[in-house]
Amino acid sequence: MNYILRRSKRKTIGITVSDTAEVVVSAPIFATKAMIDSVIHNKKSWIDAKLKIVNSRIESFTPKRFINGEEFKYLGDNFKLSILNDKHPIRLIDSKLCVGLNKRTLQKETDNQLIKNKIITWYRKQAQEYLNKKATKMASQIGVNPILIKEKAYKRSWGMCHNNGKIFINYKLIMAPKKVIDYVIIHELCHLKHPNHSRDFWNLVALHCSDYLSSKKWLKENGYTLDL
Ligand SMILES: [Zn+2]
Repeated sequence: MNYILRRSKRKTIGITVSDTAEVVVSAPIFATKAMIDSVIHNKKSWIDAKLKIVNSRIESFTPKRFINGEEFKYLGDNFKLSILNDKHPIRLIDSKLCVGLNKRTLQKETDNQLIKNKIITWYRKQAQEYLNKKATKMASQIGVNPILIKEKAYKRSWGMCHNNGKIFINYKLIMAPKKVIDYVIIHELCHLKHPNHSRDFWNLVALHCSDYLSSKKWLKENGYTLDL
């Protein structure tokens, strides 16, 4: 079985299956390959069951085609794409995501690429505005001073906290419900106090986001839908 091995100061060998269907083994520095293999062997049926669930989620996801009527998520709600023949910037009207394209007909495949780029740019802008509005307030509540909080296009992470005080949040989270976005922001901000996933870290997260377990679960189960 292929797996990603992460060594740390932990005392036991732990196994998780990521949302991208990768088996991740967290092992103490002293763990030998034989020790790791034996844990994998004992947990094999659990790993297989997890992989089956994650893979079926991945397979059920259909990439967007960027055509009229297709659904797009924004802050947890669904909006139908409406391609209009105008020059206006992207906007939400009722339950529609209106994208103006200064053309009479929309037939070429390159047009769909153009719409895709426009929508991604719009999502990223919305994500940054959300961060500007929320993150500074949250940081002062937690008592941390990030030097930068910026949206970023990640393939596999929801957020990242660098030890130089910079925080990056996956822009695709702007598709998720607000409480889920807030959880990720709080999670990364709390890393400025605890650069680990220790008990102290989770206690701090819980203090500022009492419902964090449900958001964590939501991401685990629905994270794959926050894609284009
Ligand atoms: Zn973390």
